[in-house]
Amino acid sequence: MSELAITPAQKADTNKKAYKMLVGGEWRDSKVGTTIDSIDPSNEEVIATVPDGGDADVADAVEAGKAAFAEWRSFSAAKRQKKMYELADRMENRIEHFAMLDVVDSGNPLIGMIEDAKKAPAEIRNFANMASELKGTSFETPYDVMCFTVREAFGVVGRIIPFNHPYRFAAKVAPGLAAGNAVILKPGETTSLSALEFGEMAMDIFPKGLISVVTGYGHTVGRAIVKHPEIMRVAFTGSVPTGQAIMRDAAEHMKRLSLELGGKNPMIVFPDVDIAKATRGCIKGMNLARSMGQSCQSNSRVFVHEKIYDQFIAELVERVAKLKVGDPRHETTVIGPVNHKKHYDRIMSLIDSGKTEGAKLLTGGVRPSQFIKGYYIEPTVFTDVTTEMRIAREEIFGPVVSVLKWSDYETVIKQANGTEFGLTANIWTNDLTLANRTAKLMQAGLVWINGAGGRLPGVPFGGYKMSGLGKEGDLSDLLSYTQEKSIITHLQ
Ligand code: NAD
Repeated sequence: MSELAITPAQKADTNKKAYKMLVGGEWRDSKVGTTIDSIDPSNEEVIATVPDGGDADVADAVEAGKAAFAEWRSFSAAKRQKKMYELADRMENRIEHFAMLDVVDSGNPLIGMIEDAKKAPAEIRNFANMASELKGTSFETPYDVMCFTVREAFGVVGRIIPFNHPYRFAAKVAPGLAAGNAVILKPGETTSLSALEFGEMAMDIFPKGLISVVTGYGHTVGRAIVKHPEIMRVAFTGSVPTGQAIMRDAAEHMKRLSLELGGKNPMIVFPDVDIAKATRGCIKGMNLARSMGQSCQSNSRVFVHEKIYDQFIAELVERVAKLKVGDPRHETTVIGPVNHKKHYDRIMSLIDSGKTEGAKLLTGGVRPSQFIKGYYIEPTVFTDVTTEMRIAREEIFGPVVSVLKWSDYETVIKQANGTEFGLTANIWTNDLTLANRTAKLMQAGLVWINGAGGRLPGVPFGGYKMSGLGKEGDLSDLLSYTQEKSIITHLQ
């Protein structure tokens, strides 16, 4: 622990604090008056409460956001950029605090949350850097006119995030801010603490009310954001069913949406690979260690060529069984609990379905015996999985890897693409021509070759098919928080 300089006393001392939410630069309870318990998934203890907001809280956040927007839009891109750098500087000085806050609130191990706490300010910097790219276009014409376009911010935008990377995803306010908008952030209801403290860190840097953090459930605050007539742009990260519900609600006011949704991502392993590297890559790509598979980009369907199937499985199982399950606060733990009870129950029921549908459970699949409390699940590998089984079709979003055997190239491509999802794909072979040909055939927004996971700043991320709409992390993400206006001047 010394390397991270975190002492037991610093272990995110939430102390059953009754958090308030941040609306228009003020801390307050929800107007509804109800609260949600924040539970430490490692021991099921209540560590804090957060307000469960509603329509009136969102309406107030919009009014405050409109006033803040009037000031923020008058800033030059350079001034907005400077303010965002100031926020990133502060975030970089509080890496350990935010990492531990997410550990106790989400159950993700410290080692992963330290990384997240470093990536969050990098996200703010990435978009601050792009702020000067909000340019229009001018047009050459044969007529006696001047014609150009300008990009304008929407005003107040909504940013709804899930539970799996609470602080890192709170930083997804960055493109909206850099484009000149006020942002209403709604964190996951089980992981709201770091978003609230993020809001606190930002509040004296920006105009009052520029960032509101409104906590609550999806059907209360989430829907209120999506249905508010003056929030014309909503960005959502979460599951496909919620994305669909948001699209339906957003239709009423024709909102601009971006949706980063789930995945059931294939990894295709060809027979020429170095099996040690590929099995390590499988575990990394599955985000087993550090996220317990609670990642949209996890390669949860692993197609292994029959020639190396047995050896691959033997090495994979050996490695997975060695992953250290433990208290997420400890720096040597790589597998913590999953985030909440309902999620735990769903994962366990999918594990049961794998067993009853005939897949072979080679390791894991149970709560580790040393834990009486906490939402722990041993990392799990199923083999002899077929494409009809639920564990091969449904996003589990947990520590469960399904291995399928393949022999025919055309068939494996069809099977890999044979899902409603299309977020990522992962290809392993030393034949780079084959790898690139296969990458072209993948119906996925991001394909890794001979490596797994890892996203570079500025490289677009976003799904094909049901995995989403729009891209994140790149210039198009920034521009999606603006509307383009054409201006034609007649030279008379
Ligand atoms: P979820 O869809 O249940 O909830 C996500 C957020 O939406 C929460 O804040 C929730 O309160 C809110 N919400 C729920 N119903 C709503 C409604 N009707 N209107 C507005 N908001 C509503 O997802 P989750 O369980 O928190 O997260 C897991 C899912 O997120 C997985 O499917 C995962 O793949 C996906 N995810 C996708 C990405 C990506 O970048 N593509 C990244 C992380 C997670």
